[in-house]
Amino acid sequence: MTKITADYHLHSDVSPDCKTPMEESCEAAIQKGLTELIFTEHMEMFSANFKRYSIPYMQQYFDNLAACREKFAGKLTLKAGVEMGQGHVDREWEKTIIDLFPFDFIIGSVHKLDNVDMGKMAFADEEETKRIIQQNLEYLWTLVDTCDFDSLGHVDLVKRYAANHGIKVDLADYPDQLMPILHRLAERGKALEINTSGIRQSPKEALPSVRILKMFKQAGGRYLTVGSDAHLAKDVGADFDTAREMALEAGFRHIALYEKRMPILVSIE
Ligand SMILES: [Zn+2]
Ligand SMILES: [Zn+2]
Repeated sequence: MTKITADYHLHSDVSPDCKTPMEESCEAAIQKGLTELIFTEHMEMFSANFKRYSIPYMQQYFDNLAACREKFAGKLTLKAGVEMGQGHVDREWEKTIIDLFPFDFIIGSVHKLDNVDMGKMAFADEEETKRIIQQNLEYLWTLVDTCDFDSLGHVDLVKRYAANHGIKVDLADYPDQLMPILHRLAERGKALEINTSGIRQSPKEALPSVRILKMFKQAGGRYLTVGSDAHLAKDVGADFDTAREMALEAGFRHIALYEKRMPILVSIE
């Protein structure tokens, strides 16, 4: 695969923050020459007594997926995925969902700290930004150390939210905390995601940067997955040539595809 034609992170209107029907993104993907998609709807986990995302919610995703599989058979491979947000704060629910549904691929992401979305935080000054980063790194460590997932999603997402407030953040500047996270990820045989959404959003670069991809390589990482994190059909497969160049620059010769949660390495040379 000299071109990356599989998008391993996108959302449909099942996710609360997306209005695009699955069908629309499938059509856009075919137009763009993609061959495989994994819609990874949000399954956010909350600590304490917050309301859980429901089983019918997840079932709705599988129903829509079945309809699209039928409609686009022979044109597009549609595997089953989910984006678990901070699964470690509710391991019981994480396990229930994973046991109930036949996922091919699970992204583990940190979106919320103490049940609050990082995107809603103020990033008022340097001190608060540092506090958010430290807590984010603690969450990332616990997720990578304990959760049931295949690829770590947008590891430096905090960079996007800080950039929205005009603050530049690079998690590579925190090697004492980031390296153990990347080592543990590699040790557990998990993938790191190249999420291209940052290129079209405020940070103007992918999540993460090549610098962090190189750190993952140095930590013994073998698997990379690539996703657009599209919430709009026009963004499906966006900037995958850049993602490929970044992977090659960091010394990776393959990306990973997944089937029934097993990685399959595909050459990108
Ligand atoms: Zn996410
Ligand atoms: Zn996402």
